[in-house]
Amino acid sequence: MNLIGHLINGEIVTDAARTQDVYNPSTGAAEKQVALASQATVEQAIAAAQEAFPAWRNTPPAKRARVMFRFKQLLEDNAEKICELIGQEHGKISHDAMGELQRGIENVEYACYAPELLKGEHSKNVGPAIDSWSEFQPLGVVAGITPFNFPAMVPLWMYPMAIVCGNTFVLKPSERDPSSTLFIAELLKEAGLPDGVMNVVNGDKEAVDTLLNDSRIEAVSFVGSTPIAEYIYSTANANGKRCQALGGAKNHAIVMPDADMNNAVEALTGAAFGSSGERCMAISVAVAVGDEAADAVVRKLRQRMETLKVGAFDNASNDFGPLITRQHADKVKGYIASAAEQGANIVVDGRDAQVEGYTDGFFVGGTLIDGVKPGMSCYEEEIFGPVLCVMRVNTLQEAMDLIDAHEYGNGTCIFTRDGEAARYFSDNIKVGMVGINVPLPVPVSYHSFGGWKRSLFGDLHAYGPDAVRFYTKRKTVTQRWPASGIQEKAQFAFPSE
Ligand code: NAD
Repeated sequence: MNLIGHLINGEIVTDAARTQDVYNPSTGAAEKQVALASQATVEQAIAAAQEAFPAWRNTPPAKRARVMFRFKQLLEDNAEKICELIGQEHGKISHDAMGELQRGIENVEYACYAPELLKGEHSKNVGPAIDSWSEFQPLGVVAGITPFNFPAMVPLWMYPMAIVCGNTFVLKPSERDPSSTLFIAELLKEAGLPDGVMNVVNGDKEAVDTLLNDSRIEAVSFVGSTPIAEYIYSTANANGKRCQALGGAKNHAIVMPDADMNNAVEALTGAAFGSSGERCMAISVAVAVGDEAADAVVRKLRQRMETLKVGAFDNASNDFGPLITRQHADKVKGYIASAAEQGANIVVDGRDAQVEGYTDGFFVGGTLIDGVKPGMSCYEEEIFGPVLCVMRVNTLQEAMDLIDAHEYGNGTCIFTRDGEAARYFSDNIKVGMVGINVPLPVPVSYHSFGGWKRSLFGDLHAYGPDAVRFYTKRKTVTQRWPASGIQEKAQFAFPSE
């Protein structure tokens, strides 16, 4: 069976003491295995990154950026193979995998701006013959830990910017779909990146804990579920590391009575069921304002869902694929069962979805639940499946209070034709990423990505301008070159001029 290894100092190495099966979720078969790195293997990767740091730190930013230009080209040249690997292990349909990859490539494009982004700030004559500037120095060896749901894009949120800022990197991808992540990282060597600057260790908690506890790791970027994000953030902080840890979500879409209902329903359908709902920005709750809007949304969604096609990753006519594992599919079905037990109304039930020729795949069909109320498990918890809950309220303020009371604050959106309502909503809602008639308001690469409340632990968001701040340390230099012949005198007052 194909064994997926690690990338350390430019070479693929395997540490096969412990391994884990990697499934094709469409067929349900374990087709590969991934090596789970031991502490010693992770330490080997950290040592390679540490050794590569001094030379890489001193490589001119424009040369570092040139690697990113070539890397972008290689990603485009290899797009089909990358999407095939994503589909085989994640289950994503090719059009969706291509979208993910394109959003990842955008981050490589942004990293090509590094020389501009790292120019720093300069002030002449801050005092007599004194100039001052702030520069952004790399941190050293930094680590990234990533989730299964975007095996190409989320790692690309992290290491292109970290590397181009002059750091070296150790990435620990999800052990559930590691091949595309590893393949992409291997392209960096072909792009001209010196060995050791980028390393990938596959593994589980043992690898993660080694990264968190090793004093040579200066900073950690994490994306995954909230309980693990909280653990990563508190452990990294306790160990003196800089950390940003992005967690889970429950994204509400408000449907106002004046919304263009047909377009809102199309947008909700794509945002709730695309990628089987396994997106941290998926819309999982539609909050309809007024019973008329609610009845229209439910009726139109039910009609639209009759044409939804769930199936294997390699059929481009499918709308979405399977869930990542059998256990996860069972968990999603459990949430649907609990909703019925707790008094909600299952309008469309995807629990018995059958896909011809793929009887062992981890499929759950699109599910619509009406009459959802706070306190129900299907509302309070992140389901991470193709399940859309509908809640009914009477006013925009009631909808906003509901969203603000939820523990997560990743994304949200409003469907309306009323500019005043939209402006009030975007100005006041306690959520990090807001859409107005845009169901998946994932910021482009030259803005930054991050939620509020328990969807993000840390101060700086992922990628974009915040990434320059996260992956560098500011140093401010004050320099004086007095004219020759001036007699200096000790000054005892605190310098104020
Ligand atoms: P996860 O938290 O299970 O795993 C994420 C990473 O943490 C993986 O690399 C995994 O190996 C590691 N990990 C898991 N358990 C660990 C433990 N006990 N100790 C140390 N490390 C551990 O998340 P997942 O299931 O892979 O991904 C889905 C989750 O990620 C969802 O909650 C989703 O909302 C979230 N997510 C968030 C964003 C965001 O930007 N906020 C983006 C994508 C996914």
